[in-house]
Amino acid sequence: MVEQTNIDGPIEPYTITGNEPVINDDPSDTSKHRVVIVGSGFGGLAAAQQFKGRDDVEVTIVARTGHHLFQPLLYQVATGILSVGEIAPSTRMILRDQDNARVVLGDVENIDVENQTLYAEMGHVSFAVEYDSLVVAAGAGQSYFGNDHFEVYAPGMKTIDDALELRSRILGCFEQAEITEDEDERRRLLTFIIVGAGPTGVEMAGQVAELAHKTLTDSFRAINPADARVVLLDAAPLVLPPFGENLGGKARQALEKFGVEVQLNAMVQNVDYDGIEVKDSSGEVRRISASCKIWSAGVAASPLGKHLAEQTGAEVDRAGRVMVNEDFSLPGQKNIFLIGDMVNLNNWPGVAPFAQQGGRYVAKLISNELDGASTTQRKPFKYFDKGSMATVSRYSAVVKVGKFEISGFVAWVMWLAVHLATLVGFRNRFMAIVSWGMQVNGNRRAQLTSTKQWAYGRQAMMRLEEK
Ligand SMILES: Cc1cc2nc3c(=O)[nH]c(=O)nc-3n(C[C@H](O)[C@H](O)[C@H](O)COP(=O)(O)OP(=O)(O)OC[C@H]3O[C@@H](n4cnc5c(N)ncnc54)[C@H](O)[C@@H]3O)c2cc1C
Repeated sequence: MVEQTNIDGPIEPYTITGNEPVINDDPSDTSKHRVVIVGSGFGGLAAAQQFKGRDDVEVTIVARTGHHLFQPLLYQVATGILSVGEIAPSTRMILRDQDNARVVLGDVENIDVENQTLYAEMGHVSFAVEYDSLVVAAGAGQSYFGNDHFEVYAPGMKTIDDALELRSRILGCFEQAEITEDEDERRRLLTFIIVGAGPTGVEMAGQVAELAHKTLTDSFRAINPADARVVLLDAAPLVLPPFGENLGGKARQALEKFGVEVQLNAMVQNVDYDGIEVKDSSGEVRRISASCKIWSAGVAASPLGKHLAEQTGAEVDRAGRVMVNEDFSLPGQKNIFLIGDMVNLNNWPGVAPFAQQGGRYVAKLISNELDGASTTQRKPFKYFDKGSMATVSRYSAVVKVGKFEISGFVAWVMWLAVHLATLVGFRNRFMAIVSWGMQVNGNRRAQLTSTKQWAYGRQAMMRLEEK
């Protein structure tokens, strides 16, 4: 039983009754193989698109959001560079020319493996979807390592709502600092803490610093935005640990040049309204007063993974990722595949290319078997690692491809080219170029809109759920 929040009615407990209408059980058409995909992110969309042109397959994507989110650029929405539509085009629009694909908005609550049916709800409407093959690409959420109460004070950045909330919180701090006459409070409002020095934390710290030091220059009268203190902290001894010491060191230098205070070996002990409590490697515990705290320190796989693992005997790792077979299937279930951030396969990284390659592999496998290929001898999936990259600030990025490492301006140009190429849609690419041009040449950002509702919506919803 799950708490259901109705848009147009009171909150009621949502229970699966088994009487939900099945949305894809047309008895007049049993000739088609029903592929149901959960999630419209990198993995789900790649899988769906791979079926394009197959008349013998009916694809149903069930996702809790109506958009395909390009998560790597969320931080640019949070810091006012890009608009929401540029990184989150409608999935329905992306797939409108693919006749065999249907998009259904819904939160999947339960998957009944034995009866090959999943149950979902959308507002106060609940429904069932039957499948012949199931691809689950439900991604991952933020992990607070058992301290979920930190979330309300230090939101993570996984969704469009998170990015808009963070944008409103960041800008709201400058606005409040402009009017307060209390010096200590002003200092607290102008202190921004980013927890987690992985790619997202580094990108976020760089952009908050750029906002304070460049974009907002001359736009306030009582405060100087450049007085803002931007602190990036991590329990690890290194910035960007997966990039190694050399590139991590360069990223740190670039951040510090840009005015970011980097604090390593610093373990967050507590987060509250006023600030953050940190324990250093010496054992000393200290407080940093800060109004705006941003969490980018850990991931937890979608709970749908554990739910399926419990029914099939699959193992789950500490981050909730399911240990799948080498063809992404679950033990004893040749027609259920889990891909992307919610799986652990050979410890390959939770990145977009892994999800996309997994989606295409699984779709090809299903297609080949429909064409008569053997189901007993499946060729294992092999991940093609294209390398990793992260921007630090304007003109500065780090790129690692195998043993090849590069940093600075050339790396930044490479980052720009790759992100432009992978954004969905010509219009979005064009708009991104315009926005990046404005930012780099004129220190301007077109998306500095913020609202009270974006800033406080999470708290209101949490209170609603508590009732
Ligand atoms: C801030 C940030 C920056 C990143 N930067 C990079 C980067 O620079 N390079 C890179 O390669 N990777 C990056 N990543 C990681 C990359 O975005 C993920 O690896 C990738 O999105 C995983 O794809 P996925 O399909 O597994 O999940 P996602 O893309 O997260 O998609 C999950 C989908 O499932 C849906 N869903 C979840 N639960 C349910 C449910 N119960 N019912 C219905 N639908 C559900 C969601 O709405 C969504 O559509 C970044 C991630 C973040 C958060």
